[in-house]
Amino acid sequence: MPTLPSISTAPVRPIPTYRKRSLAGARGLAIAALLGAATGCLNPAAAPAADLAEADTAPSTVLPAVPAAAPGTRAPETVLPAGGQTTDLEVVDGIVLAIHGGAGTILRENMTPELDRAYRAALENALLAGYHVLSNGGDAVTAVEATLRPLEDSHLFNAGRGAVLNDDGEVEMDASIMVGQSGMAGAVAGARTTRHPISLARKVMEESPHVLLSGIGADTFAGEQGLEAKERSWFVTPHRQEQLRLLKAKEERRIASAGFGPDDHKFGTVGAVALDEKGHLAAGTTTGGMARKAWGRIGDSPIIGAGTWADDATCAVSCTGHGEFFIRKAIAHQIHSRMAFGGAGIGGAARATVLQELPKGGGSGGCVALDAKGRMAAPFTTPGMYRGWIDSEGRVTVRIHGDERR
Ligand code: ASP
Repeated sequence: MPTLPSISTAPVRPIPTYRKRSLAGARGLAIAALLGAATGCLNPAAAPAADLAEADTAPSTVLPAVPAAAPGTRAPETVLPAGGQTTDLEVVDGIVLAIHGGAGTILRENMTPELDRAYRAALENALLAGYHVLSNGGDAVTAVEATLRPLEDSHLFNAGRGAVLNDDGEVEMDASIMVGQSGMAGAVAGARTTRHPISLARKVMEESPHVLLSGIGADTFAGEQGLEAKERSWFVTPHRQEQLRLLKAKEERRIASAGFGPDDHKFGTVGAVALDEKGHLAAGTTTGGMARKAWGRIGDSPIIGAGTWADDATCAVSCTGHGEFFIRKAIAHQIHSRMAFGGAGIGGAARATVLQELPKGGGSGGCVALDAKGRMAAPFTTPGMYRGWIDSEGRVTVRIHGDERR
C-alpha cells in the first residue's frame, strides 16, 4: 500500500460541532484488475485545451470497442480560458465514460511518484470496469455503478472505505445515481454500514418508491436488498483519523490566532458519467462528504440537481467540491438548464456554471459532464482534480493536476 501524502494542515472553514446525541460489471472488475497495472501507458501529455479532441486520441489501454454511440467529431466550441481561475476547460469528443476522484489542492510536492501511480492506476481500473460494461452492450447506469464500486473500495478516495471522518470520527456516506433516459433517480445520505453506497442509491431508485433515503433507514433498506454491510470501523482508515486529528488541532490554534486563510479541504469524492451504445446517459456520485463535517451534515452528492444530474436531451453531470455551494446554485442542474433552455453546448454550459457562476458564491470544485454525442467537459476551479475518461475505442486518459494539459 503506497504511503499517503501528508495531510494538509491549511486552515479550514469552521463547521459547527453537534454533540451526539451482481452486477454486470463484476466481470469487468476482474478484467480491470488485470489490465489496470498498466499505468505507464496513461497519456497525461500536454496539449492546448482547444486541441484536446486530437491530443486525447493517443492510444493507451485498448479494449473491444463500444459500438459507435459517440462519434468522435471535433469540438466546434471555442475553448476559452476560465476567467480568473487557475485552470481552463477540458473539452473532449468521442467519450463514453468519464470520472472524477475529487477536486482540491492537489499539489505535486505532496505527491510521491508511487502515490501518483497508485491514483492513476485506481482511476484507470475504474474506467476499465465501466468500459467493460459498455463494450458488452451494458447500459449507462450499470457502467456508472461498476465504475464507482472499485473507487468506493479504494482507500485513496473519499468514498466507501477510506471516506473522510465527521467531527465525531465516524464515516457517514452520501451517494446518488440518475438515469438520463427516464429521469429516474436514487440517493442515500448518512449511510454508515453499506459497503457500496452507489449500489444502494441504485436500489433506492429501482426498488423503492422514493428518491432519497437517509441514515439507519438507508442501511436497513440496503440489508433488505441483500447489499453487503460492513462494521462501521471497517470504513475508518488511519489516514483519515490523522486528517481529523490535524484538522482539530489546527482549529484550536486558529481560535487563538487572528483570522485564517481560505478553505483547503482535499475533497476526494468520486463520480462518473456514462453514455451507452443506445445513446442513453447516466451519472453517479459517491462520497464521505467533507472532513470534520458536522454529524448529520448532508452535502451535494446525494442531492439530485446539485451533485448529480442526467438527462438524455442534454447531459450527465457529477460534481465534486464544497457541497454547500453546489446545493445553493443547483450546479449540476444549472449545466443542464443552460443547455436545455439557453442553447449552450456542454463546454459553454460547464464553463459558465463551474468556472464563472460557482466561484461567485465563494464555491470551489469541479465536475465531469458528458452529452449524448460523447462530448465531455471537465472544468474545475481548484489546482487539481483527479479525472479520467475513456473513448469509444477504449483509449484511456487520466489526469490529476491542472496544468497537465500543457
Ligand atoms: N461535494 C462533497 C460534499 O460536499 C465533497 C467532495 O466533493 O469531495 O460532501
